[in-house]
Amino acid sequence: MKSNSVSPKKTNSLLLISACLVGIPCRYDGGSCPHDRLQALAAQGDVLPFCPEVSGGLPTPRPPAEIQGGDGGDVLDGRAWVVNIEGKDVTTEFLAGAQKALRVAQCWDIEEAVLKARSPSCGVGQIYDGSFSGRLVEGDGVTAALLKREGIIVKSEEEVR
Ligand code: SF4
Repeated sequence: MKSNSVSPKKTNSLLLISACLVGIPCRYDGGSCPHDRLQALAAQGDVLPFCPEVSGGLPTPRPPAEIQGGDGGDVLDGRAWVVNIEGKDVTTEFLAGAQKALRVAQCWDIEEAVLKARSPSCGVGQIYDGSFSGRLVEGDGVTAALLKREGIIVKSEEEVR
């Protein structure tokens, strides 16, 4: 059975983490979501912070976005898309950010990622339903879905003890 604990000293591996979890102000609203345990790991140099949305070319702050028509896996397969609250399609930027996250993970031989819960990029197992009403549905964000497909273990920060 897989453990939910994080292994900061894995051989040949750093943890890829959502940059906002270590206090980097890259969230859509210009804020961050600092997580004590992950910030402690970052202070030891055991994590590689990454923000797929900013790396995909979106500014900070930016209008919030949600996946419509499915989840991140469906976006990867062209069956769903990502739209911001102003109605602009930002699927291209989300896909670019996911590909960059994967490239970074592969370059550093990263085997495990801890990503921000419920984000349309980083969400693991649950995301907002695309209606901007706060309703949740099962599914992964775009980056989380791509990393999982490529064999990387992906958890949300809420699973980290
Ligand atoms: Fe954080 Fe991921 Fe959103 Fe960037 S894309 S702000 S790392 S949740």
